[in-house]
Amino acid sequence: MASLIQSEEAFTRFIEEYRDEREEVKYEQALSEMAVRGLKSLVIDFTDLYAFDEDLARVVLDNPLDHLPHFDIAAFSKLRMRDPMYADQIRRIHVRFRGLPFETPLRRIGAEHIGRLVLVTGIIVRASAVQPFITNAAYRCTSCGEMILMEQTDQFLKTPVQCPSCNSRRGFELVPKESVFIDSQRISIQERPEELPAGQLPRSVNVELKDDVVDVARPGDRISLTGTL
Ligand SMILES: [Zn+2]
Repeated sequence: MASLIQSEEAFTRFIEEYRDEREEVKYEQALSEMAVRGLKSLVIDFTDLYAFDEDLARVVLDNPLDHLPHFDIAAFSKLRMRDPMYADQIRRIHVRFRGLPFETPLRRIGAEHIGRLVLVTGIIVRASAVQPFITNAAYRCTSCGEMILMEQTDQFLKTPVQCPSCNSRRGFELVPKESVFIDSQRISIQERPEELPAGQLPRSVNVELKDDVVDVARPGDRISLTGTL
């Protein structure tokens, strides 16, 4: 697959044309039900995507961080056409996957999995409080009053380098009311006892949960989780 734009188009085609065993356009329907069900995520069965477009399924497994944002955009454009009011309300859709063809044992997670989409199963041993995570920070230039929006991707807050209006290089204040926040939570999941080799201590991994999947499970719960490393 040559470009990210092509993957956006290919994913749009998947939503519009994929039919399940009952000949229903399954994901068009899922989108049309999002508002009544109050959902912010479109959950895709990986085997459906694989059956429809093997190349697209492979690129998202190998390189989810580049391709998933474009799937999100494609799904959101479809939602905006169907239900502009709900689209305005939720502002973004998360495309999430389930039913990956193979599971990665926690103990085997290694360098070759970095940046890939994986399915892991384990027991939640710790869960942090839910905290706000800023996705779009709004700054006001204190020299001229210009508002500057900065998209945020990790825990280090990006600040403007220069005001596009007056060229000032300092004096930017964060305006929380104009910024966009989502919920964020950190959990640790640990190997299940039955997976543990004799005499070994259980391994665990930390996971960042964002937006609508925070607080859906508690310590002690067994979960299967599809995400990126
Ligand atoms: Zn300025």
